[in-house]
Amino acid sequence: MDPISVEHREAIYLDHAATTPLRAEVTEAMREAAVTGFANPSSPHAAGRRAKRMLEDCRERILTLLGGRVTGPRRDRLVFTSGATEANRLAVLGAAATPGGTILHSARDHGSIVTAATDLAHRGWQRRRLPLRADGTLDLTGLDSVSAGPRVLVVTLACGQTGSLEDTAAVARATSASRGDTLHVDATQAVVSVPVDLRQLPAGTLTLAPHKFGGPRGIGALVLRAGVTIAPLLPGPQELGLRGGTEPVMLAAGFARALELAVAEREEVATRLEPLRTRLERAVVGAARRAGLEAIVIAADGRRVAHITTIAIPGVERQAVVMAADLAGVCCATGTACASGASDPAPALEAMGLPRSIADAAVRLSLGRDTTAAAVDEAGTRLARVLATIGAGGGRRDIDA
Ligand code: PLP
Repeated sequence: MDPISVEHREAIYLDHAATTPLRAEVTEAMREAAVTGFANPSSPHAAGRRAKRMLEDCRERILTLLGGRVTGPRRDRLVFTSGATEANRLAVLGAAATPGGTILHSARDHGSIVTAATDLAHRGWQRRRLPLRADGTLDLTGLDSVSAGPRVLVVTLACGQTGSLEDTAAVARATSASRGDTLHVDATQAVVSVPVDLRQLPAGTLTLAPHKFGGPRGIGALVLRAGVTIAPLLPGPQELGLRGGTEPVMLAAGFARALELAVAEREEVATRLEPLRTRLERAVVGAARRAGLEAIVIAADGRRVAHITTIAIPGVERQAVVMAADLAGVCCATGTACASGASDPAPALEAMGLPRSIADAAVRLSLGRDTTAAAVDEAGTRLARVLATIGAGGGRRDIDA
């Protein structure tokens, strides 16, 4: 039998940074909401009013879980979007309501930020790409020299490629609302691993998407702190005038339930996953060595979220590893799902100063709340077979060339 063929075995899913399976409790919450909140929340009749109440209840629950203010004149707002991509674009392009500012972002941001920044640049905004340190976090030392005027600084709390975690205290020190700075925080990958609390974060806007923590796809959110104004991308009367279209009450119910569960379990899950991630890294590094290859864990010495690791095997084509791992029964990725198949290395890895031979060869493995030690060990065994085959000549670029 082909040593990496697993047609009759269950695949081990190590791609939770791309998306996670829907939780049973979430499915149940959505089933209930689909029945009781089926009506259009904008309809003035009783069924519509009930759907509207349910929608607003979800909004408040999510805001409260994030430490947002839900009462009083300085209350925070939350706009439901189709996902994190739309929320990021709404935050960045929505800022263009104020003319002639500067957008500051970096290679650790998701593609939705990068493309939105490009669009802002076409509208006359200055665009500055901030450098990254070797541990994958932002280097904010040059920020003071960036021109005055409205500035939007984008900070991705946990990098979707490397899992490296931003130092929010340093970010808070570097930005100042009094100077006209707006901080947009992308918390999409962070919320499962670290507290995301608006009472501690100086964020003006914040992005979240529940499909990264057992919730549904097709919904995300942009939180707007009191006083922050943005322009809509999809004008319409719904969502405080910031996003037109009939609101998905069922998805909002799944979002709120998934976040409640994720926040309640976060510490326990992160504490359990961190040693499992280390165990997986050791298994891969050891297997690579035995196969005559080298494996390098990216940002290993920096602070990272518990569920993501990126490992490079220099000289080995990353697509070849991911495809062989798939055949061997391990689902993993070269990086963010939207960039899968891209031939260029992940921008975050290049910006960290990694040589092309490493950036080109990086594979991302990401764990989830239901990943067990047994699954990690079995994944290690399967990946060891893959690496042994590659080491024997099957996938090395220098041999293929
Ligand atoms: N931001 C980050 C940090 C991500 O990792 C992702 C997806 O991987 C996104 C945004 C986009 O999320 P969505 O698929 O919900 O649009």
